[in-house]
Amino acid sequence: SVKQHQVIIIGAGAAGLMCALTAGYRGRDVLLLDNAKQLGRKILISGGGRCNFTNQNIEPGAYLCSNPHFVKSALARFSQWDFIAMVERHGIDYHEKTLGQLFCDDSAKDIVDMLTTECDWAGVKIQLRTEILSVAATDGGYSLQTSEGEYRCKSLVIATGGLSMPKLGATPFGFRIAEQFAIKVLPTTAGLVPFTLQPEDKARFEGLSGISLPVIAKAECGRQFREAMLFTHRGLSGPAVLQISSYWQPGQSVLFDLLPDLDFVDWCKTITAESPKLSLKNGLSRLLPKRLVERLQELGELPNKNFNQLSKADVAALDSYFHCWQIQPGGTEGYRTAEVTLGGVDTDELSSKTMEAKRHPGLYFIGEVVDVSGWLGGYNFQWAWSSGYAAGEVV
Ligand code: FAD
Repeated sequence: SVKQHQVIIIGAGAAGLMCALTAGYRGRDVLLLDNAKQLGRKILISGGGRCNFTNQNIEPGAYLCSNPHFVKSALARFSQWDFIAMVERHGIDYHEKTLGQLFCDDSAKDIVDMLTTECDWAGVKIQLRTEILSVAATDGGYSLQTSEGEYRCKSLVIATGGLSMPKLGATPFGFRIAEQFAIKVLPTTAGLVPFTLQPEDKARFEGLSGISLPVIAKAECGRQFREAMLFTHRGLSGPAVLQISSYWQPGQSVLFDLLPDLDFVDWCKTITAESPKLSLKNGLSRLLPKRLVERLQELGELPNKNFNQLSKADVAALDSYFHCWQIQPGGTEGYRTAEVTLGGVDTDELSSKTMEAKRHPGLYFIGEVVDVSGWLGGYNFQWAWSSGYAAGEVV
């Protein structure tokens, strides 16, 4: 027996849940399918378990997409303020951590509970543990062969996410469906991901893991982020590194300003006047983590001198050393630890108003499966909410 629904959404993650409740409130008969045992797993582990669910400063410039205008319509029609209003209606306490990033006070589970409650109120049917075996176009709709039998629908929404964190059930399903319908998929890579180091650098920074410092990280394309950098035992991480990783291409270097805002030449003058016999190492340890300074000196990258022994050339060299500290990453940690997938379903193939495939009426792609990725800080969930809403309004 074939089960018929007006709308079927594949993927009960952030985008799928938002799309389902939006369509449900419009009176649509919605079935939300997922192959996992549990819905919204990425929401649950996001933001260190507190879910950075949106950002107060959402703007199109914070998204990577081959068509930078594509995100504008959906973000405008369901904005961060709309999502915040829903969070407030559910009495969920939240706070701004930094840079406009909003987190739950208590737990990411509050967001999953909110979305499932809304789906329930909207009459959405949610069915987990369902393998989608195949999808085919029918007369005026789509049919799905699944582990639970055959389903048919008028509108089919693909919300299966990207490739990041396969441990959490990420699959290339959405890209395969796009390819099946001859919808272009742009090459995918890991984004918001730690860097690994070349062997020489790995040896240079051995033992520094856990050290964190504020930096400005700059990619060769000119994009820069002012946030913290963290040494790990595999390489470099921290928000500045994750952000810049989305703008980095293999083989390129990244420049770090290790002393942002400091006029180093001036600072040296002041210290030399105040404490001429202070060692460079002890002086720098007032500005930078001591272990890092010690290591850089052991490596011979800093002169073993007191401030009054530093020549003009020494000071100039140190100035450029700290403000333009260059690293050529060996690579990234890849999808295993990436927060997002760059690339995906080509936005040229979709309506920016509805997320419907231009050449396949009734077929929609929302969330991370689309070639839209945001900065770190709640931007990716906002894309999931906004694109899910856009499709939910029309399916
Ligand atoms: P997902 O939320 O990934 O949902 C996809 C759903 O599809 C899943 O339920 C999955 O089980 C299902 N599915 C997959 N394949 C199939 C299949 N073949 N058949 C059936 N179902 C399938 N973003 C932020 O904005 N703020 C954060 O704090 C944040 N923290 C993050 C932390 C981590 C560790 C990670 C990995 C990501 C984080 N992100 C964060 C990014 C954010 O989680 C994603 O951008 C967002 O979840 C994408 O939503 P989505 O609905 O498109 O996909």
